[in-house]
Amino acid sequence: MTTPSTAAPVPVLEVHDLKKHFPVRKGLLRRTVGHVRAVDGISFAIGEGETVGLVGESGCGKTTAGRAVLRLIEPSSGSIKVMGQEIVGLSKAEMRPYRRQMQIVFQDPFSSLNPRMVAGDIVGEPLSVHGVARGRERRDMVAALFERVGLRAAQMENFPHQFSGGQRQRIGIARALALGPKLIVGDEPVSALDVSIQAQVINLLKDLQRERKLSYLFISHNLAVVEHISHRIAVMYLGRIVEYADTRTIFTRPQHPYTEALLSAVPVPDPAIKRRRRVLQGDVPSPVKPPSGCHFHTRCPYAEARCKVEAPPLREISPGHRVACHLR
Ligand code: SF4
Repeated sequence: MTTPSTAAPVPVLEVHDLKKHFPVRKGLLRRTVGHVRAVDGISFAIGEGETVGLVGESGCGKTTAGRAVLRLIEPSSGSIKVMGQEIVGLSKAEMRPYRRQMQIVFQDPFSSLNPRMVAGDIVGEPLSVHGVARGRERRDMVAALFERVGLRAAQMENFPHQFSGGQRQRIGIARALALGPKLIVGDEPVSALDVSIQAQVINLLKDLQRERKLSYLFISHNLAVVEHISHRIAVMYLGRIVEYADTRTIFTRPQHPYTEALLSAVPVPDPAIKRRRRVLQGDVPSPVKPPSGCHFHTRCPYAEARCKVEAPPLREISPGHRVACHLR
């Protein structure tokens, strides 16, 4: 009789100390005079059927992080494991099987869909490129995907401009599903949609997750949107994760002043509950020359002298809850 394995399941995605620094070049000789530290050492993992929300203001590095995870841009350093296999350093050919496992849904469905292709060809293209299906078989698979995301198979012959914004995002989701991926990175996938349509698309993503045990990295500037789909949330500020916990903890017991400020802008549906509004002063500083010490000290209402010189490490303050702040 075989003993049942007690080993923890391997995460679908494991990211460790991931960095992406872009060189800043100047002058005739294009000499490197500095670096934009867009992503500066982030770590997280996503299990099967789980969603991790990556949140922060525009310019915090979350989109770069999403693209680096998929190796759509090359990371500067760090480790990315997909189903336990390291993918950093793999050649284009070696990456091919992993490309099928990892897909992306973009923010702007209009610019991410080729306007000269009919919707059926857009969704079916990955099936042809990866040699999965062609002809009648491909048509049937695409028709099934259309139906699954709430479109009609008859709409396969329509061009992107003949669809509404929400329908175009459904086409983007169908295309991402075509190869049966394990992981989908959603880069602000509902931000361009009306609020009522946002809810429909999020519900579709949740249904698909249940059905197919999909894992999502859900990137958004909007905590209220992320709350509805994420199991855990990573809050990013200037290239670093400053707080990481399950969704309930982030919403009920946020510990980082930046998370508190982001949360205070989220509307509370119950008028009896009042949240103290904390308006963040100024914009996110430039990642070319981030503030010393704790990057947040220039906007933090609790900043002390040491915050300007000492970067707080991301410490676990309770099981599964990590915070980067000297006061916690
Ligand atoms: Fe604010 Fe200091 Fe905490 Fe940074 S370390 S968040 S500046 S209190």
